[in-house]
Amino acid sequence: MTNTQTVKDQKRLVVVGGVAAGMSAAARARRLDEHAEIIVLEKGPYVSFANCGLPYFVGGEITDEAALLVQTPQSLHASLNLDVRVRHQVSALDADTQELTVEELDAAGNVVKTERLSYDYLVLSPGAVAFEPPIAGTDLPHVHMLRTVDEAKTILNEVQHPRSAKKSAAVLGAGFIGLEAAEALAHQGWAVNLVELSDHVLPPLDLEMANVVQDELRRIGINVLTGVGAAAIGEDTVTLTDGQQIDADLVIMSVGVRPDTKVFQAAGLACARDAIVIDKHGRTNLKNVWAGGDATVSCAYPTSEATCVPMPHEMRPVPLAGPANRAGRLIADDIYNAGQAREIPSALGTAIVRAGKLTAAMTGANRRTLEEAGAKFHTIHLHPNQHAGYFPGAKMIHLVVHFSEAGVILGAQAVGEDGVDKRIDVLATAMRAGLNIEDLIDLDLSYSPPYGSAKDPVNMAGMMGQNILQGELVQWHTEDLETAKKDGLILDVRTPAEFASGHLAEAVNIPHTQVRANLDKIRELAAGRKVYVICRSGMRSYLAYRMLVQNGFEAANYSGGSLTLEATLGRKL
Ligand code: FAD
Repeated sequence: MTNTQTVKDQKRLVVVGGVAAGMSAAARARRLDEHAEIIVLEKGPYVSFANCGLPYFVGGEITDEAALLVQTPQSLHASLNLDVRVRHQVSALDADTQELTVEELDAAGNVVKTERLSYDYLVLSPGAVAFEPPIAGTDLPHVHMLRTVDEAKTILNEVQHPRSAKKSAAVLGAGFIGLEAAEALAHQGWAVNLVELSDHVLPPLDLEMANVVQDELRRIGINVLTGVGAAAIGEDTVTLTDGQQIDADLVIMSVGVRPDTKVFQAAGLACARDAIVIDKHGRTNLKNVWAGGDATVSCAYPTSEATCVPMPHEMRPVPLAGPANRAGRLIADDIYNAGQAREIPSALGTAIVRAGKLTAAMTGANRRTLEEAGAKFHTIHLHPNQHAGYFPGAKMIHLVVHFSEAGVILGAQAVGEDGVDKRIDVLATAMRAGLNIEDLIDLDLSYSPPYGSAKDPVNMAGMMGQNILQGELVQWHTEDLETAKKDGLILDVRTPAEFASGHLAEAVNIPHTQVRANLDKIRELAAGRKVYVICRSGMRSYLAYRMLVQNGFEAANYSGGSLTLEATLGRKL
């Protein structure tokens, strides 16, 4: 709007949902148009609150409730001249007249006033609501979701005033929020049962990574129950689908979310599995209506152009704060600078979570997604240290990278005590930039002994990837174990002491330093069969593998060594 425009020309932007995507859109809109009328409608009592901080409030790490309230209607009015209306719930949308029906609520949630509100532009960012499992007892007073400040305050109050000396809790669902909730309760000294229907915690992680996290959760005292769901919630117990009963004075349900879009679907808004379908600028099928955040799914990338395999966002919304915040900004850009706005990129689903001493992070597709898509891909496992091994405090990172036969990086995961965030963020950046696995070799990453290695784990992943693509490295994985046992020679090249500490019953032990001198013996043992080499991490076995193939053997190197094998099997050899 120019200075000469009158108030009559003033356009009204209405934003529904005043947290991540919505508040980003409203704030950006104001920076682009000083004169616009911008109204934010939020049905809850708070706007712009730190929902990601709620588990840490329950756990007692964040002690000041006010710290969760990043902004207030007053502060947003003062700094951005936004008209933020909390306890204002949109109950209907009329896309023809461009009007909303808005209900004003009192503190108890009762409607005290209903009005119609017109808009020139509308941004829908209603987010998601927690999925309520269809089981008995979810309405009991000690059963909670963890999505709002009020819910977090209620849970904290119950934590501080336990109903029994047992202080027992059940967390249903071991996704990100479930894990954070379980850790928070354990941190408060509660006995926590973490119940997960999938066969491992953090279902987006590959099994071998999730098992490492699972061990850590058990180490900090959380009772992890996988492959089982809740069948019914009672006064102080939860009955599981396998019949067992667990104590639970407090229950937190975190079994997933669904887009909060019912009201808008009734207005003809195109949705797929409840998620608002948006194009690459956040536009919906309705005129002058945009949408962003957890409630949306993008139709802009039918299959990821780079990978030709479905990425996580193509099957379901990616309910994460980063994509929501960035989408909000880009939607405002499209409203005010149509034709010049950057596109909202496909979210890779980059995510990170703390579990005890460990950090688990991931980006892009996991193995299950790739297999379901019928993608042909390679997987590499590495266990490098986060910094130079000779520098005190070196800690192992477990790193997995999936890449296509053409070298396109499809996804990565890492678990470790330190340095996980850096590696996954670098890999997420590489994926976003469209780098190939081999390009990782060339990344010029910062290094000095307390921080990294001259060959960073990400560079190493690139080198391994190149070896595979060039045919210099053939791998075998856990799914090849039975074939290896039946039809091959399993050659364990660790030291005798390591071998004695646990090994595959079928394996023969020849340390990698003695492989060259024992080629005839290995030839005799193999008797024409393929040699399946394994060590602890995959490094020494790679050296042995190279010796073997250059001496005429058919061989393969176990990806990730016994560390990965044990993590996949979920037990020591
Ligand atoms: P929200 O932020 O949920 O905002 C939607 C708002 O719309 C809500 O306040 C709702 O009350 C309001 N609303 C809905 N319908 C109406 C209506 N009809 N009228 C008026 N108002 C309405 N993501 C991460 O990336 N990292 C994390 O560590 C992380 N931790 C999390 C921890 C918790 C406990 C929770 C709950 C979420 C966490 N998330 C995290 C997810 C992240 O918070 C969301 O992805 C993000 O907030 C989504 O933004 P959004 O704007 O789409 O929706």
